[in-house]
Amino acid sequence: MKKNYLKILVITLGLNFTNLSANDRPEWFIPPPLNPEGVQLETVKLDDGVYALLSNTPFADNAGFIVGKDSVLVVDAHFNGKMASQIITAVREVTNLPIEYLVNLNAFGDHVFGNYAFPKSTKIISHEKTLNFLKENSLEKRKKIISVTVEGDMSIFDGVEDRLPEITFSDILRIDMGNKVVELHFFGPGMSSSDTVLYLPDSKIAWTGNLVFGKGSIPWARTEKISEYLKTMKKFDSKISPNIIVSGHGKIADKTIIDKYISYLSNVITISEELTKKNININSHVQKISLNSDIYIEPNIEDLMEGFHKWNILNGFKQIQ
Ligand SMILES: [Zn+2]
Repeated sequence: MKKNYLKILVITLGLNFTNLSANDRPEWFIPPPLNPEGVQLETVKLDDGVYALLSNTPFADNAGFIVGKDSVLVVDAHFNGKMASQIITAVREVTNLPIEYLVNLNAFGDHVFGNYAFPKSTKIISHEKTLNFLKENSLEKRKKIISVTVEGDMSIFDGVEDRLPEITFSDILRIDMGNKVVELHFFGPGMSSSDTVLYLPDSKIAWTGNLVFGKGSIPWARTEKISEYLKTMKKFDSKISPNIIVSGHGKIADKTIIDKYISYLSNVITISEELTKKNININSHVQKISLNSDIYIEPNIEDLMEGFHKWNILNGFKQIQ
C-alpha cells in the first residue's frame, strides 16, 4: 500500500519536474540522491582563507567560504536552514568576521533554500537568470522540482522561507575582499540556464556548482542544449584555468576534468548524430547504451552517471531532430 502511494507520488512529482525541465523524465532515470538528512560538511582548507565544505555522502551538496580582510563570502546556501546553520557554524570555527556575501551558484533548491538562515545583513548574489527563475516559480513549485532528489520527502523543507538574491550580474562580477579578489563568471547555459562559476584567480581555485560535477563524473545536460553546454565548457576553458575544482556535488577535481567534459560532450553530439541516421526507437535503444569504459567514473556514483549518460544521449538525439 505504502509502496503504491510512493510510486504515485514519484510519478506526480516527475510530471512537475518535466514541466519545468522541458525534458521528459524517463522512468529508468534515477534523480541525483541529494538528501541532506545526516549530511556532515567537512571543512577543507585549500589556501589562505579559502575553505571547501565537503559533504560526507557521494552526491549531496558541497559549499564553501572565503575569508577576506574584513568579511566572509559563502558559496551556496544548501538545502534548508539546518544545513545553512552547519555552514555558518563551520565559518565561525575559522573566523568571527561577518558574512557579508552569499553566492547562489544556480536556482535549484539545494543551492538556495538555506538563504533565509543567513544574517539579514548578508547580501545574496546570483546570476540574473537565477533571480528570474526564483521570481517566476513559486517556492512550493520549486520545492516540488527538487523533491525528486530527496525521495519526495517534503519534511526536508520544513521551515524554509523564500529569500531572493539582491545583487545580480550577467557576464562577470568581481568582488574585492580586501586581500583577495573573487570572480563570478557566467560562461553560458550548461546543466541549467544560469550555472555560475566562482573563481579565485590568485589561488586558481573554482567552485563550479552543477556545471562541472566532482572527480570521476560526466556532465548532466538536464535542460539545456548539448551544443550550448559544449560551447560553455570551451568558453570556461579559454577564460579561466583553475587547478582545483570544488563542485556542487562530488569530490574535489583537478583541471583535467574540463577537457574530459569537453570531449565527452563532443562525443555525445557525434553519437546522437549517428543514431539519428539509423532507424531506431531511441527510447528503448537508449536503455541499452552504457558509458565507454575508458571514461573514469568514481566508485559509488556509477549508476547515477550511467543515468546521466542515457539522458544526455536521449536529449542529444532529440535536439538534432
Ligand atoms: Zn546542485
